[in-house]
Amino acid sequence: MKIPIPEQSLVLLIGPSGSGKSTLANAHFLPEDVLPGTVDEAKLHDEVARRLKQGTLTVIDGVPLSAESRRHYVTLAREHHIALVAVAMDTPEALCLERNRTRTGSHPSPRALRNQVLQLQNALKGLAKEGIRHVHALTPETVDAVSFEHRP
Ligand code: ATP
Repeated sequence: MKIPIPEQSLVLLIGPSGSGKSTLANAHFLPEDVLPGTVDEAKLHDEVARRLKQGTLTVIDGVPLSAESRRHYVTLAREHHIALVAVAMDTPEALCLERNRTRTGSHPSPRALRNQVLQLQNALKGLAKEGIRHVHALTPETVDAVSFEHRP
């Protein structure tokens, strides 16, 4: 699967914990273009706005899974005439759980993870309606063959 990435894009990586967002970001984007979505939201919003003003490609690794959280980025991308691309990691709950079991650090409880998986399923239905034109869902079957085509 080829995913076109216009040079001036805001890419939202969304998916439950353990779905492979950071792994994907590391494999396909420069570290300086990737911002963790888990930091203080006000600071992140400022940083993203600053980068979009300059037309710098920006990838957010782990946008919170609510439509509310995404709304801000839809507005921001419109304001700056930037392409908004959502990449949704549609990784089964059992696989996320299994991966998180073998990771160090803190991870959501099984119950919280289930909630994240449900939120992702809702997001998959709603992303286009929210005004995100470029929506791509990746599964464990497709993720390894994906390529991002950087376009001027
Ligand atoms: P979090 O939101 O908790 O930070 P994440 O969605 O960013 O999670 P990763 O940190 O990318 O998930 O991956 C979680 C674990 O799953 C890691 O140990 C990683 O090595 C493994 N993993 C991720 N993607 C793949 C893949 N495509 N194939 C095999 N293992 C993977």
